[in-house]
Amino acid sequence: MSELADPVAPLEVLPRDLSAYREGNVGVPYVHRFESGRPGPHVLINALTHGNEICGMVAATHLLDSGVRPRVGTLTISFAHVEAYESFDPQQPYESRQLVHNLNRIWSDEWLDGEADSPELRRARELRPVVAAADHILDIHSTSQDVVPFWVYPAAERNARVALAIGRPSVHLVMPQGLGSGTPLIQHGRHGTDQAPGCALVVECGQHFLRATSDNAVATARAFLAHWGMLEADAPAHIGEVPVQQRFELLQTRMVSTPEFRFVRPLVGFEVFAQGELIALDGDEAVRAPCDHCTVLMPTRSPVVGREGVYLARPIR
Ligand SMILES: [Zn+2]
Repeated sequence: MSELADPVAPLEVLPRDLSAYREGNVGVPYVHRFESGRPGPHVLINALTHGNEICGMVAATHLLDSGVRPRVGTLTISFAHVEAYESFDPQQPYESRQLVHNLNRIWSDEWLDGEADSPELRRARELRPVVAAADHILDIHSTSQDVVPFWVYPAAERNARVALAIGRPSVHLVMPQGLGSGTPLIQHGRHGTDQAPGCALVVECGQHFLRATSDNAVATARAFLAHWGMLEADAPAHIGEVPVQQRFELLQTRMVSTPEFRFVRPLVGFEVFAQGELIALDGDEAVRAPCDHCTVLMPTRSPVVGREGVYLARPIR
């Protein structure tokens, strides 16, 4: 498939001007903090780690525009990568994900204290104290393909307990070994250790540009804050019965090594492969399912050498 023929999902939700949110109140642009004056956790709701994942922007602006004030503890709301977000081009809506680096893979001391420079490294260095200060983090993302929403988090009880308690999304991708492709925001500093002060979760809310995805982001952000007693929970009638939870563990993150990377058939995510079955070809290398019930997540829609190609997972039974 040529680049030009690349189909674009309907753009139901578009970026909006965020200049009104630039002036924060903690000395870092696009970061807003509210103290309740009462004891409680410090919760961070982070949007736009990837510039084209605009559902997080919708959730963050929903909270700010509705005048959210935590009933307990401290609430921080941040828009991470506004520079990439502002590069949005409706003709190439996937391109504003990042400018140079993936802002969600550079949260190690090596990168943050290193010599390299990029818009993402500059922004991560700015946001570092904001992320480090939080007890609990919700980092809001979306997917290029139209698949069910799911949580992503390192395999620690503190994370699973919260994601399962909230129960929506009902699908969980658990990472026993981390991502294998860098350090995500949710594993920065203490958050990536046994001394973590609390939970740190990614929520993938659905396809980037769909209205339902932004609705999911708003609902998940509100549920996360309600879990910590910061907001009143939305009325049960609105929420309905909690669905059965389905958990997967990440086995491998396959990077794209060659320009010839391609899947054996079009994949969107959650397709299941038997052990040894061919999933993709990457030049001369065959990417095969390492186990039965191997489930692919987040297959790239447009392979780029050096970026992630696909996550291979299996159900946790
Ligand atoms: Zn993302």
